[in-house]
Amino acid sequence: MKKRILITGAAGFLGSHLCDRYIAEGYEVLGMDNLITGDLNNIEHLFKDSNFEFYHHDVSKFVHVSGDLDYILHFASPASPIDYLKIPIQTLKVGSLGTHNLLGLAKEKNARILIASTSEVYGDPLVHPQTEDYYGNVNTIGPRGVYDEAKRFQESITMAYHRFHGVETRIARIFNTYGPRMRLNDGRVIPAFMGQALRGEDLTVFGDGSQTRSFCYVEDEIEGFFKLLQSDYSLPVNIGNPNEITILDFAKEIIKLTGTDQKIIFKPLPVDDPLQRQPDISKAKKILQWEPKINREIGMKKTFEYFKNLPPDQFLKSEHKDFSKHIRK
Ligand code: UDP
Repeated sequence: MKKRILITGAAGFLGSHLCDRYIAEGYEVLGMDNLITGDLNNIEHLFKDSNFEFYHHDVSKFVHVSGDLDYILHFASPASPIDYLKIPIQTLKVGSLGTHNLLGLAKEKNARILIASTSEVYGDPLVHPQTEDYYGNVNTIGPRGVYDEAKRFQESITMAYHRFHGVETRIARIFNTYGPRMRLNDGRVIPAFMGQALRGEDLTVFGDGSQTRSFCYVEDEIEGFFKLLQSDYSLPVNIGNPNEITILDFAKEIIKLTGTDQKIIFKPLPVDDPLQRQPDISKAKKILQWEPKINREIGMKKTFEYFKNLPPDQFLKSEHKDFSKHIRK
């Protein structure tokens, strides 16, 4: 019997890579997405696969799935600061109501559920690098609060379902991840810089660029999720690449990689933009025997190839195709 897995946020960046991975592993994959930030172009190639089905549904509303379910991966959520500024209420709802619905489904189906949490639970961290036992420094009412607090609530309700109902739960704290299928116009730093280089615009560094991030290539990240789902560990685990860089140095790397003759210009630092971020992955190494393998130079080359080869009309906005015949309501 094939294992059946429900993946929410299936048309998004991470969700679509998860669909690919679990199809490749021989699972029956049910993808679900409300397509607010997801893009069906990311999973178009799976529509012909008889092990893949797509449901156009908002998981903030009651989620029904017929038949058995072995696993749930809850990856539906806007995940870029620009997106959650644009759709703050949906961001809060998918992390809270959406997670509640999926935990209810996991309990009903006796399925194991992995939820996508985030380094944002650490806010603007006062502990560096961030270990899982750091409680965080989050502004509840700032612009990022809608995301950060939804994800913190998500972790709480997940642990409550685990402890009170005995649901098998897994919590991945995801740090900045990059690779093909990131949305070029989502405002995050990698698509922003690459889009600017491709359009011949100057690269916009926010603040003085001394803030740091640690970027993980998507293939490594997906392997981390895969191992975490297989494990028997129910407390949160950081999944990310500890290789840290300042945003200014990163902009210089992108200039070199893309060969653009544009320069760096400085723009104001967004409110509550974390000044430093680097995962401590000792726990993932020990419990999952996982660590990232793909270095930034190789990962960024692959990512640039992807962006460079997008149809030119996607440089600003993604193409709209008619996928209606593949969608189950
Ligand atoms: N950033 C930047 N220029 C841009 C977009 C982002 O300097 O055009 C900075 C942003 O201020 C942050 C870092 O890059 O310090 C990463 O931003 P991103 O939106 O990718 O995600 P975050 O890690 O802040 O959630």
